[in-house]
Parts: sequence; C-alpha cells; structure tokens
Amino acid sequence: MKIAVIGTGYVGLVTGTCLAETGNDVICVDINIQKIEKMQQGELPIYEPGLELLFHRNILQKRIQFTTDLSAAVHHAEIIFMALPTPPGADGAADLSYILGAAKDIALLITGYKVIVNKSTVPVGTADKVKAVFESITTVDVDVISNPEFLREGVAVEDFMKPDRVVIGTTSERAKKIMSALYAPYVRQGNPVIFMDERSAELTKYAANSFLATKITFMNEIANLCELVGADVDAIRRGIGTDERIGKRFLFPGIGYGGSCFPKDVQALVKSADEHAYNFEILKSVITINEKQKVILADKLLNFYKNDISGKHFALWGLSFKPETDDIREAPALYLIETLLKKGASISVFDPEGQENVRAIFNDRISYAENQYAVLEGADALLIATEWSLFRNPDFEKMEDLLKEKVIFDGRNLFELEKMAELGYYYNSIGRKLIS
Ligand code: NAD
Repeated sequence: MKIAVIGTGYVGLVTGTCLAETGNDVICVDINIQKIEKMQQGELPIYEPGLELLFHRNILQKRIQFTTDLSAAVHHAEIIFMALPTPPGADGAADLSYILGAAKDIALLITGYKVIVNKSTVPVGTADKVKAVFESITTVDVDVISNPEFLREGVAVEDFMKPDRVVIGTTSERAKKIMSALYAPYVRQGNPVIFMDERSAELTKYAANSFLATKITFMNEIANLCELVGADVDAIRRGIGTDERIGKRFLFPGIGYGGSCFPKDVQALVKSADEHAYNFEILKSVITINEKQKVILADKLLNFYKNDISGKHFALWGLSFKPETDDIREAPALYLIETLLKKGASISVFDPEGQENVRAIFNDRISYAENQYAVLEGADALLIATEWSLFRNPDFEKMEDLLKEKVIFDGRNLFELEKMAELGYYYNSIGRKLIS
C-alpha cells in the first residue's frame, strides 16, 4: 500500500520503517530539515534498538523515502498517518495545533479518497475536530480514524512488529477493511485488532498510560512506606506480582515516572475530565506523588549531608528516562541534576545514549564522562537514575579506587543489599533497608 507518515519522531519513524518492512511504499515527512537531510544520508536521528537494520534495508530497497515536501507525500499515499507532537499546553491540556495544522495542510492538497490515521495521543473528540477541518476545506471523501500507538521506546520495533493488540477507532467499513489488510502481517500470531469508535480509541490510549502511571506510583508509595516500617519492597513486589490479577510487570519502584508520554498524558486526561466537570481524583494524586518521587534521591542525599552539599561533587549514572533510549524528555535525572546544582554541588554524568541530549540542556553547568568509571573520579558519592544493563554488574573494586567515599544512592535498586553490606558501601536505595 502507498503510505505517508507525517512527523518522523520516535513514533513516526518506527511506524514508517516497520510499515515499509512488510512491503508497503512509504514516504515520511517532517518539517525539521536537518532531520530529513540526516535520514536522506542514511543516518538515524534517534537511538532505538533494532531500528537501524530495518531503516537501512528499506532505504536500500527503496520502500522508504524522506522528504519535507508534504504535497508529494499526500499525492503518493492512500493512507496518511499523523505521528505529530501533542505536548501539554500551559493548562496541561494536549496542544492540538500540530494535528489540526497538519490536517488543514493535507485538506488543501487532497484530490481523492484517503484514510487519515491519527497515531498521536489525543483527547477524546480530536477525530471529530480533524473531520471538521477537512469538511471546512474540501468536499473530497476522507475517513479520519484513530489508531493510538502503544509502542515502548527501547523496544519500539518489536512492539510495532508484534503488537499485543492494535486498536482502531472508526465506524467506516471502508477504512476498517483497509486498516485490517495493512495490519494483518503484524498480528499473524493471533493478537487482536480491536475495532471501536473513534472516541473510545482515543480514550483507550489515555486509560492505558494513566493506569500504568498509577501502578508505578502505587509501588513507589509502598516503597516509601517500606522504608518507614522496615519492610523490603522487593519481597513485596514478588509477593504480589505472582497474583495474576496484579501481574509481575510495572511493579518496580524508582524515582518517579518520566518520559514524553506518561507525565503529559496523565495531565491531559485530568484536564479532559475537568472540562467535563469530572474530578479525576486518583490521577490528581498520582501527579502530586510523582512530583515528590522525582526528587526523592535528592532528598535522601540532602538528608545524608545534613542539607549542606555546597562544594560536594557527585557522579550520576543514567540520564535517559529509561534504559535503551536516548530520550530524556521529563527524565527524573534532569530534576535531580537541577536540584543538586541549586544547592551548590557539582555533577559529572554518564549515560550510554542520552548524554548529547542532556548536553544541549545543561551545557557546561555539568561535566560529561566517557564511561561509567571515568565519571566516578573524585566524586563524593554515586547516584543512579537509570537502570541501563551495563550498570548492573560493575567492578566495585575499581569504583572504590575512583570514588572519594564508598557512598551510593541508587534510584533503581540495581544491587543486592547483602553484597553492598559485604563490600562496605553506604548504600541507600528505594524501599529497602539502608546499608550503612
Ligand atoms: P517526537 O517529538 O519524537 O516527533 C514528532 C515529529 O513531528 C518531530 O520530528 C517534528 O519535527 C515533527 N513535526 C512537527 N510538526 C510537523 C508538521 N507540521 N509536519 C511534519 N512533521 C512535523 O514525538 P513522538 O515521541 O514520536 O510522539 C508523537 C505522538 O505519539 C505524541 O502524541 C505522543 O504522545 C505519541 N506517542 C509517543 C510514544 C513514544 O514512546 N514516544 C508512544 C506512543 C504514542
């Protein structure tokens, strides 16, 4: 099928590449010229495991192209995906200007039937707004459908190629047929394509993200309580995760959820509910608790140094909001760095992929190390913000030589308590016994 993908960020580029992989003819469009030029030269603008191989293969076989020319892409395609940003506006509601702006541009160009597929996370009623834009500009027949994306950064290719489910919001039989055929290669194992109306599809995505944010937040609160009552959150996680109704996943406590989705989507759902005079209390609490959790490592550190860290130097492992991505949007590490700098400390950081994105924000306010050991040199303590695999089994002897003091504040519970006690570290983690 002939496809256009408007917006080639984390979602758009993975969508375009994975659609090309099953033989479709894809044109990806972006307004960011540097990004497009990079991709035209065969360079990926993001880090996403597994994407590079598919990206190069499909470029080579001419199934995917990159352009800033919306008109060429629209005329080429029978299906037009929108994978555009929906950032929070000043009031927390999703900013729909990218979606509605692109809809207007597409409407001015189309001359025949198209399926307009919204992949962005958008509030209920957006498909109707997009339809209204088309109707105000053209009499050409279009189906505007909602197809929320559930991929996770870090395993995005796998998620797209073998999704747990595909949700499609449309009441048009014509669009249903086209989308069923398009997604058939991805659900051969029998995972469902779930059809529903547009509004339900739009809300499904917010419900999924808000539920997961709530699950993490609940575990973070259990962890905080564990520290007060002398219980171990790891034991509790295993104790409840074996209950099938609860499930093993998303029970790991930490330093708050971040990323480009959860914070903005929870906020947007609360705002949508407010607009319908519904007070979504549980999500309001989730937001408040997460704000506190994001700086919990800084709180522990300040407590340890009796609120005086001026002149101290800290090493930080991990910047991206989760492992296997270079995405640092709303990463808890950023809040940690900001808090410690304000208190007069200096910081060196290391992250396998997120470092350059952080450099663009903090420049020379912090220093950047080449590897996980170099960053430790002369540091009063090590802080851990992201659970990259390479941090899980480090050379503790080497670390001991480099660190000024054997002090670790671990926001991701990477190490066994017994081992840290044996090695003689001060080890402060989340929801577990303090080793001192
Ligand atoms: P992103 O910021 O990585 O990418 C958006 C891209 O759109 C950018 O490259 C930008 O230059 C481009 N763009 C902006 N305006 C444009 C226009 N008028 N024409 C063409 N391109 C334009 O965003 P993302 O992370 O890919 O997210 C996109 C949407 O998908 C959001 O609504 C997000 O909530 C949702 N989503 C994201 C994820 C994720 O893990 N990142 C997962 C599921 C859903």
